Amino acid sequence: MKRLVVLGAGTAGTMVVNKLRPRLDPADWEIVVVDEDPVHYYQPGFLFLPFGDYGPADVKKPKARLLPAGVDLVEATIDSVDPAGSVVHLSDGTTLGYDQLVIATGTHPRPEETEGMDGPEFGETVHTFYTYDGALRLREALRRFEGGRLVVHIVDMPFKCPVAPLEFTFLADAWFEELGMRDRVELTYVTPLEGAFTKPVASAHLGTMLAEREIGLEADFYTERIDAERRVLVSYDEREVPYDLLVTVPLNMGADFVAKSGLGDDLNHVLVDRETFLHPDYDNLFVLGDAANLPTS
Ligand SMILES: Cc1cc2nc3c(=O)[nH]c(=O)nc-3n(C[C@H](O)[C@H](O)[C@H](O)COP(=O)(O)OP(=O)(O)OC[C@H]3O[C@@H](n4cnc5c(N)ncnc54)[C@H](O)[C@@H]3O)c2cc1C
Repeated sequence: MKRLVVLGAGTAGTMVVNKLRPRLDPADWEIVVVDEDPVHYYQPGFLFLPFGDYGPADVKKPKARLLPAGVDLVEATIDSVDPAGSVVHLSDGTTLGYDQLVIATGTHPRPEETEGMDGPEFGETVHTFYTYDGALRLREALRRFEGGRLVVHIVDMPFKCPVAPLEFTFLADAWFEELGMRDRVELTYVTPLEGAFTKPVASAHLGTMLAEREIGLEADFYTERIDAERRVLVSYDEREVPYDLLVTVPLNMGADFVAKSGLGDDLNHVLVDRETFLHPDYDNLFVLGDAANLPTS
């Protein structure tokens, strides 16, 4: 009996086991998925939580319900992978050998990587909708917001779904308009890119859409730190952007076990061949979804 181990039961891990279970004879192949969180979050829905268009039930489902029969779900945190020995080490001390491995543990916001972000103001005047809890905290903050400077901010590239902060900005513009308070809100979009978006044609079009809605654009902004006490963003070239409410996309990084296992780049994204999704050094180690260091947007 051979064993396929899939690390991460998010979008990529769930899809790959649903595709592979019918193709791999259960008499020959055992399939095991490891994830530390029993809840599957529909992350695109996080955009709609702050405005109340979606509620918790729209974005949460038990992971076990999304896996086909014949796939074992192990609820555990991955500590490291020994790719030479084909063994996964879990943080409860147990190990899981494999014949084939798929790493699908995604990429995740790391507020602690930016000076000043992860302090007492996080969840108060500094928010992110890139996590479930963050999106719900932001919903409360938007309910309390009576007007002032709302800044939508990207720390650095790459991050998952690069269009999401723009979508948030346009949704916020429409939401304040609907509440009859748009004239009391100064909206600014702060990005390390030279324009509104990564691709030139889309960037020009989206830049026009921002201008038409009187949304300020602060481009080429490389964030050095957040001065949460003074409520200003500070860039390496010493520009400052003041805010009353900050909605930020923190630095995105892959899981820590990737670094511990010597498999990642400096943001813990796993090295992978873009044609085969195989790790360049191991012919039984595949990487799918956001965990890979591919330029997927
Ligand atoms: C606000 C927002 C809006 C988005 N909008 C869109 C959109 O419109 N269209 C689109 O295509 N994409 C969108 N995305 C991106 C999309 O959600 C991701 O690209 C997708 O979820 C990636 O799937 P994944 O399986 O690679 O990672 P994930 O779905 O993040 O799954 C990773 C899994 O690994 C588990 N894990 C991580 N580390 C460990 C560990 N050490 N031990 C055990 N388990 C671990 C996690 O618990 C998680 O279940 C959006 C994302 C956000 C945040």
